[in-house]
Amino acid sequence: MSLIRFLNVAKEYPRGGVALNHVTFQVKKGEFCFLTGPSGAGKSTILKMVYMEERPTHGDVWINGLSIKEAKRREIAMLRRKLGIVFQDFRLLETRTAEANVAFALEVTGVARGSIRTKVARVLTQVGLASKGTAYPHELSGGEQQRVAIARALVNDPSLVIADEPTGNLDERATRGVFQLLREINAAGTAVIMATHNLGLVRRADLRTIEMNHGRVVYDSSDPVPEIGGGGDAETEARRAAAAAWRASAPPPPEPDLYDPLLEDEL
Ligand code: ADP
Repeated sequence: MSLIRFLNVAKEYPRGGVALNHVTFQVKKGEFCFLTGPSGAGKSTILKMVYMEERPTHGDVWINGLSIKEAKRREIAMLRRKLGIVFQDFRLLETRTAEANVAFALEVTGVARGSIRTKVARVLTQVGLASKGTAYPHELSGGEQQRVAIARALVNDPSLVIADEPTGNLDERATRGVFQLLREINAAGTAVIMATHNLGLVRRADLRTIEMNHGRVVYDSSDPVPEIGGGGDAETEARRAAAAAWRASAPPPPEPDLYDPLLEDEL
């Protein structure tokens, strides 16, 4: 069974245009999947559906076998406990320390007080912030704040981490650190779906990639390679060409061997 399954999904916002059209893809348990494409392509809408925050206008979405069309409120609440979310703007509570931000995610799910401290310490260590637990968000760098947000996403042992442009507010060095952390989390068995328009990152990583443009999937690295001259109607071909041009316009990735994880100042 797939962890994420979209079948012919369309989304039209009441006061917006068509955000998604004919979107079909699957993500397996434990997979790392990039969702890429320019701003407005539909990436956040997909992630909101994965979190069951938005519903499709047509088609259906299954998360861990639960259909978004049939899911009851209680089932959605249960599902969300198994999902961790990370945003571009971190969304930390400014008046709480790093520890308290992470603990909050456990408090709201009714975890016994006694086990909260241990769990919080475990995830802060996992993200490399064992010594920063008592710091407030404004006392942390952007990369460190995002690590706290990742710790908060991890503390309920999710089967999937949903990351919406998690490196969008970070410099190159912090970006690499945060991405490396997400890779480690994935290597330990948690699936990750990560929206990004950082093409350098996507190119270097060589991971499952779904590329969106104008609400459609224009490329999915898990699809069989289409035959030359074949593989789609004129509209799909035109979108593929546009996506290829967009890919080609990306800045070249920096020299990989210039990166030394031991010099990673965010750790
Ligand atoms: P991305 O994450 O790739 O930037 P989005 O999923 O945020 O793309 O947006 C896709 C399209 O849907 C855009 O045209 C956007 O303006 C529109 N859209 C997104 N959210 C809403 C909303 N709540 N109401 C109306 N239109 C929306």
